[in-house]
Amino acid sequence: MAEPHSRVYFRDRIVPASEATLGIATSAMLYGLSVYTVFPVQVDERGRSAFRLADHFQRLVESCKIIGIDRFADEWDYQRFIDAARQLIIENDPQRDVFVRVSVHVDESIPGTRVRGCSTCVSMFVYDAVPIIPQDGARLKTSQWRRIPDDAIPSRAKVNGAYVNSVLAKQDAIDAGYDDAVFLDGQGHVCELSAANIFLVRGGTVITPPVSSDILDGINRRTVLTLAAEEGFPVVERVIDLTELYIADEVFATGTSAGVAPIIEVDGRKVGDGTQGPITGALRKRHSAALRTDTVHGWVTAL
Ligand code: PMP
Repeated sequence: MAEPHSRVYFRDRIVPASEATLGIATSAMLYGLSVYTVFPVQVDERGRSAFRLADHFQRLVESCKIIGIDRFADEWDYQRFIDAARQLIIENDPQRDVFVRVSVHVDESIPGTRVRGCSTCVSMFVYDAVPIIPQDGARLKTSQWRRIPDDAIPSRAKVNGAYVNSVLAKQDAIDAGYDDAVFLDGQGHVCELSAANIFLVRGGTVITPPVSSDILDGINRRTVLTLAAEEGFPVVERVIDLTELYIADEVFATGTSAGVAPIIEVDGRKVGDGTQGPITGALRKRHSAALRTDTVHGWVTAL
């Protein structure tokens, strides 16, 4: 299993990873009451840069707001967030691309099942950027576990406890010999993978479920929608039936930890000719370039 790099941000300073501990009686432990995001840091000869950092901060703020974690927005602003991330990267001095996981934990002890006004703390750690699904063609299985709906635990909020839903789906897919799961909603429409968004291509049009389909509003999903439109591909956000995946020309996943990953099989049915399609390839190239250099959208922050 992977380990965090040696220095971590915890509460208001950087400490050795072994010193960053949360009590067993905190809501974070008792109820999974933490929200988080993971952003990538690219390391190359030009230096180190983070991708869409402001959007990650904004989504963290919004996750807190949805769940009712109200102290984070009072105590943190974007400048404090960048400063902490930069200091963390400087102290760990990674030599290769890494991911940074930032969490806001409710660390109040035994408050019961409530949240507003509870104390919070922030943790950040760095780990090696290892993709969560194969990059050369992933195989998916429809999950028998449905995606948690917005009126139960909103997928829009990246809340730790909700990831039990993802664990159930992913483990089931792995047990059945697949790489990941496709979540459907209560009506059988396509939502997303266990920790990545999903796209299909049919007749040259790039199609993905809307943000109201019980999905995480993924930052790489937004990125790919922008890049696809710039490349001149028609782009549609609409409800998708499962069987549309079976007859798609191309299917791919997006996410910080998934990249833009071609899907070559869904439920035993080959997607297209069973290899990465041309539009997936083009978007993958644009996305991977944008992670490092982006002069158009302001997506890259030097760290
Ligand atoms: N959906 C889920 C459920 C996820 O956990 C993730 C990973 N954060 C994504 C989609 C992709 O989001 P992003 O592009 O912001 O990494």
